[in-house]
Amino acid sequence: MEDLVIGSHVSYNKKEGLVGSVKEALSYNANTFMFYTGAPQNTVRGPIDENVVREAKKLMEENNIDIKNVVIHAPYIVNLANDKEEEKFNFAVNFLKGEVERAKKLGINLIVLHPGSHVGLGKERGLDNIIKGLNLVLDEKDGPVICLETMAGKGTELGTTFEDLKYIIDGIENQNRIMVCIDTCHIHDAGYDLNNFDEVLEKFDKIIGIDKIGCMHINDSKNEINSHKDRHDNIGFGIIGFDNLMKIIYHKKLKGIPMLLETPYVSMDGGKDRTYPPYKFEIGMIRNQKYDSNLLTKIRNYYK
Ligand code: ZN
Ligand code: FE
Ligand code: FE
Repeated sequence: MEDLVIGSHVSYNKKEGLVGSVKEALSYNANTFMFYTGAPQNTVRGPIDENVVREAKKLMEENNIDIKNVVIHAPYIVNLANDKEEEKFNFAVNFLKGEVERAKKLGINLIVLHPGSHVGLGKERGLDNIIKGLNLVLDEKDGPVICLETMAGKGTELGTTFEDLKYIIDGIENQNRIMVCIDTCHIHDAGYDLNNFDEVLEKFDKIIGIDKIGCMHINDSKNEINSHKDRHDNIGFGIIGFDNLMKIIYHKKLKGIPMLLETPYVSMDGGKDRTYPPYKFEIGMIRNQKYDSNLLTKIRNYYK
């Protein structure tokens, strides 16, 4: 098995389902991938066709994608931190219960979740709501793992420090079902200095433990450290930079952990109407371990 487990966000459409996602990942030369089980910004979800799942699994096996490295991202509007309206909180819990069931049907073990935003209720109440909600979602001893994502700290986002995530994790009853997804752009934007990643990882290990890292989001950042902006950039084209990201991707303590790119699509002419996925090229550059300053031009020429 390859040490480097790398892939990206891919689409998941009604027509092709998981088979389409696998095909897209393979077109990027990835050996894992991440997807939303529907639109990222809403909670409309369709049924899962067992025949499609069977075909997708076969395609993964034939192409060395280990399904245990494949990740579902929960939609980002689900907010477990807000209990101001009981109805909304219950909706979030029930949606996530459904997401766990979908993951089971698809045979997927990792679900990434943005912990939530306290929307003015205060950090402590928000964190306690997340714990309460997660214990309702993860009520069974065994099943898919929820990976809490490290957040940039936009608005009232929670989970911007390792301490906050540890606080949530400590409140979870079924410990084997809770892990963390480290997002490089987010931790940089939250104030962790990726020029000294060894120090950051050591801190993480002391507070939470490296064995709790379920997956990583690998993104460069458009903004300075501590900016709390959460604007991803293409690998090597942002403030974090290629060398720092390579040290993270190839870190000996992170071997075998799925690394997922969520970098922005490249526009053809600065406009938003035609944009193209950078992943095939970024994955190539990462495997080469050599920065290519012409990468964005190559992507444009490839898709032209
Ligand atoms: Zn995320
Ligand atoms: Fe992310
Ligand atoms: Fe982000």
